[in-house]
Amino acid sequence: MGALFLFLFLKENQSSGCREWFDPGTGFILDTSQGLKFHVMIKVQKFVFNPFQENSFLLYDETGDCILVDMGSYTVEEKKEVLYFIDNNRLNPVKIVNTHCHVDHLLGNSFFKNKFKAQVAAHAADEFMLASSVEHGSIFGFEVEAPPEIDEYLEEGKPFFFGSSTLEILHVPGHSPGSTALYSMKDNFVISGDVLFSGSIGRTDLPGGDYDTLIRSIREKLMVLPPDTVVYCGHGPETTIGEESRTNPFLSS
Ligand SMILES: [Zn+2]
Ligand SMILES: [Zn+2]
Repeated sequence: MGALFLFLFLKENQSSGCREWFDPGTGFILDTSQGLKFHVMIKVQKFVFNPFQENSFLLYDETGDCILVDMGSYTVEEKKEVLYFIDNNRLNPVKIVNTHCHVDHLLGNSFFKNKFKAQVAAHAADEFMLASSVEHGSIFGFEVEAPPEIDEYLEEGKPFFFGSSTLEILHVPGHSPGSTALYSMKDNFVISGDVLFSGSIGRTDLPGGDYDTLIRSIREKLMVLPPDTVVYCGHGPETTIGEESRTNPFLSS
C-alpha cells in the first residue's frame, strides 16, 4: 500500500468534509474517512463510429477490466482507436455488450470477439436480428462480418458484473423488443441505447418496434431514475433524466 501512496494526491472534499486520495493516473479515488477503502468508480469512454454516428462506449473500473458497449467500430481506423485506448490504459476487455442488436451497434462485435475472446451479452428478445445483420448491413452499404452469438443473456433483475463493478439491467422495449439500458446508481449514469436521446426518442418503425411500448419504457424505467442521472445515448450528446423530463417534446403530455 505504501508504494501506492506515491502516486496519490490528497484532496479535501469540501462538500462532504471527507479526505480522499486521488490517483491522477486512473482517476480512481481512495476514501480514507472510514479506513482504507476504494471508492470503485466506473469510468466511461465514448467513441463516435460509423456513418450512423453511433456512440460506442468502453466502461472500465480500477481492476482494469473493461466492457465494450455497442461497439460500432467499422473502419480499420475506428478499430485501432479502441485498441489504442485499451493498450494505453492497460485494460482487459472481458465482455462485449449490446443495448440492442441493430447493425450500427454491433459492427465491431466480430473483430473484438476474435481479438479478446470476450463474452457477448445482449437481451434474448433481440437475438433474431443477429441472423439478418449481414443482409441488413448490406442494405446500408456495410460489409458486416457475421456477428458472434450471445453468450450471456441480459435480463432485468439479473445483475451484470465486470471487474469489481455491477450494473443494473433495465428492459426498455419499444425501439427493439430486447432493448436494455445499463444503469449504475452509484456512478449516476445510464446507458440508454437508442431508447432515449437528448430532445428525442428512438424510432419505432423497425422490426419489433412499437411507439406506445417505447413511451411506457421511458416513463416507467428511465424517468423514475434520479434527475441528475447522466444519460449516455446511442446517438448524439449526453443529457440527464431531469433535462429530458423537463424539455423532451415526446414526454410532455
Ligand atoms: Zn437502434
Ligand atoms: Zn442506433
